[in-house]
Amino acid sequence: MSEKKKIPKVLKSLKLRLVLIFLFIGMIPAVILRGGILRSYKTKAVSNRSIEILSQARILGNQIVFNHYLEDISSEVINSQLEQLSNIYDGRVMVIDSNFHIIKDTYRLDEGKTIVSEEVIRSFRGEEISKHDSDNGYIEMTIPLTDSESKEILGVFLVSVSTDNIILNLEYLKNGALIIELSILLVLLLLSTLLAMKLVKPLVNMSSGIMEIESGYAMELNETAYAETEEISARFNQLFGRMKIIDQSREEFVSNVSHELKTPLTSMKVLADSLNGQENVPVELYREFMNDIGNEIDRETKIINDLLSLVKMDRAAADLNISSENINELLELILKRLRPIAEKQNVELVMESFRPVMAEVDEVKLTLAISNLVENAIKYNHPGGWVHVSLNADHQYFYVKVEDSGIGIPQEDLEHIYERFYRVDKSHSREIGGTGLGLAITRNAVLMHRGAIKAFSTEGEGTIFNVRIPLNYIAS
Ligand code: ADP
Repeated sequence: MSEKKKIPKVLKSLKLRLVLIFLFIGMIPAVILRGGILRSYKTKAVSNRSIEILSQARILGNQIVFNHYLEDISSEVINSQLEQLSNIYDGRVMVIDSNFHIIKDTYRLDEGKTIVSEEVIRSFRGEEISKHDSDNGYIEMTIPLTDSESKEILGVFLVSVSTDNIILNLEYLKNGALIIELSILLVLLLLSTLLAMKLVKPLVNMSSGIMEIESGYAMELNETAYAETEEISARFNQLFGRMKIIDQSREEFVSNVSHELKTPLTSMKVLADSLNGQENVPVELYREFMNDIGNEIDRETKIINDLLSLVKMDRAAADLNISSENINELLELILKRLRPIAEKQNVELVMESFRPVMAEVDEVKLTLAISNLVENAIKYNHPGGWVHVSLNADHQYFYVKVEDSGIGIPQEDLEHIYERFYRVDKSHSREIGGTGLGLAITRNAVLMHRGAIKAFSTEGEGTIFNVRIPLNYIAS
């Protein structure tokens, strides 16, 4: 057995999900904007710093050449300017002569040492190089020191400055952006909660509406805020209406059952009382009354049996006991059983079969259904009348037609004959032993086979019942 993972109720809340979606969508632009702005700030700041230092370094480089600093590093002016450059930009300045010797290092770490880095070599060839090492956080520039007249490269000027303060500014900006982002988040949280509450409100209204209907304060659901809620409301009202009808018909059924079951009992009571109330009752009268009481008991039994058949039919179609049956034989058997009744009524019973038919049916239920139709055709007939039963089939269905020359059913009653306890002429039906349940049983049995039943009738001339049932049972 697979165990379904249970999602906590809070997480299943539509309101919460909407809030999270709004927050997510709302924060995307803020996050992208922050990333983009900070990145472009960093690029711009580094490039500005490089241009600034480069121009300063060029001026100083010219002075170095002009003052022959490469030959004699004692010039106070140049030295102090080198220190100044180093201090202002928090960097290291080195002057390298044509022998790749470091003749001046503002950090005084490498003076007198030789430097042969790739950048220095390229600058000795005349290139001005500016390189940003973002991993280690510095900008390094190498500038050739060129004699303005002979254009000879006399040395290289190397400036390496830290980008720490750019990073510091960046951090500051980042913090600022974070505060703005948090503020946006807060405002968004508030707005999205309000919006989610408003959006979910119609659903909450529907729920309380249903509760009101349940407790009897309201009769129908009417939530028109969205097309969807309008549709659900309409469907709900439809369903509720149907349930009310079912409930009413059940109540009606129960009251009908009670009434029908009481009638024979009342008759028996009257018969018994009248016997008891008389002195010296002749035996013949006793016999007659007891005979009547026996008839009432038979009637009561018939009603109970019919009710039981109906209740059985009301159960799920899973109760059907489907097997492949020869329908011709099944009909023959029904007619054989009913022939004595027909003869008694002086009604001619004829069967006509157009082809052999095998079909998947519940033999007991189908027999009951067709028997009721043929029995009715005999019961509601005239002496000397006839009943024709015919069987035909195509590749999909078989058709049973029960036609009689009887009293017929008035047009206005035709649509009610399948209702439980419905009888066109109560007294006549009762006289001939009808319970009003036969056609309800028949219709249920036909529908359980996914078939259809239709009646046509002309009053005084006769009635036709057409039954159509699939040859192969269609399980739902
Ligand atoms: P009942 O047990 O009274 O026959 P049914 O449910 O079988 O009940 O039939 C309902 C009513 O339909 C009957 O009371 C009768 O009035 C009418 N009816 C049924 N079949 C026929 C028929 N073949 N000819 C005329 N009336 C019929």
